[in-house]
Amino acid sequence: MIIEKENVETMMAGVQVGAVSFADEGVEKVLDIFQQKAAANTVFITTFTHGRGLAGRQMPGVKFPDHGSMESDEKTFYGGNYATPHPEYYANTVIKVPHAPDLGKLDILESITGPAKSRNMKVICCLEDQWHTDVPGVSECLEVDLMGRKSNTLCLFNPNVREFWKALVTDTVRSYDVDGIMLFNERNGPLLNALGASHFQAIEPGRVTCFCEFHIAEAKRLGIDVSRAKEGYNKLAAFIRASLKGQRPSDGYYVEFERLLLEYPEIVAWDRLFDKGKHEVLNDVYATAKSGRKDIQVGFHIEHVNSFNPFFRATRDYAELAVKADFLKIVVYNNCGGERYANFIRNIGSTLFRDVPLEELMRMNNHLLNYSGEAALDQLATSGLSSGYVFNEMQRAKEGVKGKCRVVAGIDVNIPTAEGSRKASPEDTYAATLAALKAGSDGIVLSRKYSEMMLGNIDAAGRALREAAKKNK
Ligand SMILES: [Zn+2]
Repeated sequence: MIIEKENVETMMAGVQVGAVSFADEGVEKVLDIFQQKAAANTVFITTFTHGRGLAGRQMPGVKFPDHGSMESDEKTFYGGNYATPHPEYYANTVIKVPHAPDLGKLDILESITGPAKSRNMKVICCLEDQWHTDVPGVSECLEVDLMGRKSNTLCLFNPNVREFWKALVTDTVRSYDVDGIMLFNERNGPLLNALGASHFQAIEPGRVTCFCEFHIAEAKRLGIDVSRAKEGYNKLAAFIRASLKGQRPSDGYYVEFERLLLEYPEIVAWDRLFDKGKHEVLNDVYATAKSGRKDIQVGFHIEHVNSFNPFFRATRDYAELAVKADFLKIVVYNNCGGERYANFIRNIGSTLFRDVPLEELMRMNNHLLNYSGEAALDQLATSGLSSGYVFNEMQRAKEGVKGKCRVVAGIDVNIPTAEGSRKASPEDTYAATLAALKAGSDGIVLSRKYSEMMLGNIDAAGRALREAAKKNK
């Protein structure tokens, strides 16, 4: 049997989409494509973000897919709330996010909830922690980095930020007939950021956050020595900068790093503090959504770094996350995964693991992560990660949540990659979708946004879903 019978009936099959696609192509036409091609029963509509990953047309400079407007919105895209903010809900926060200006007066939830409902499709609102610093109130809530500079991210211990997320969730679930919300917060703590232990390229250890008054107050409350934490991060930054230049400590890169952690447990404590803030926001979002409306489904997007970074994995216990969510969307993006995983290996291989040849470092990391049969490092970007990776990661998630919440697979459909790197094909998309279903996934979310997806790939994912369902009849 491919998937459990009851799983087919409750399967969450959806597509992530930004408001612009409905504006460009028409509500009914897009919903037709979702149902007919993707076999979707759920619309994951981005209602809040200032980022381009989940909203807007194709990323500037990337080839347009085979549908929608082919005109770049680079100059007009801004983001914000794609529904209508109701001011009464935001009284307790200085952050006042206006209606997203890029699509005129369009209220995307008013436009799609009726048509989706009449097709028996569910609507889940995607809310993402991505900002512009000129949004009213945001300048008062910015994180402060190690060097005392204001960052461009919002502090999760700032009471205005806490109140904003609660207000946004309440507004969304009370003002509209939606079925759920999914929160996206891809931010890492200071330790990972200092090490550059992610797939992002730039390693800037002086930019780690947060050392604002609210963070410091929370640290003091928990008995964490603030000046020792700063001293530790400054030493870590010096170590990272020297490592990037190839200045090998006499005892070796890894030993030097380990010694810093042992000498300054405050480094880890400060990192855990960031996670505490992040998890408290998840708790707030869950509780607020449920008190707004009991039947609301609450989900969290679990970012890519969770799949290929053992350090990050250690901070994300599925069993712990499962009790504060109805579902977790697990990122198993396998096409761009190759390029991202290779970047991660090169990043950690340029600092704390600099003594290890990169190919060996990757092999060891593959063992730690239970990856098998993946391409060698120099081929990884071109090859992408396999459907076996999708299977293993979904199986791990399914086991990890111990039945406490559903897990849905975030399938990579044309997430932009560099020239020469793996691009999604219908065969890949079909194989990845089927692998997720075989692993016991409770759903499929085609990611990241419809405006970057080729129709043939959407169709291939839908075919995998239909075939899996048929085999269970
Ligand atoms: Zn802070």
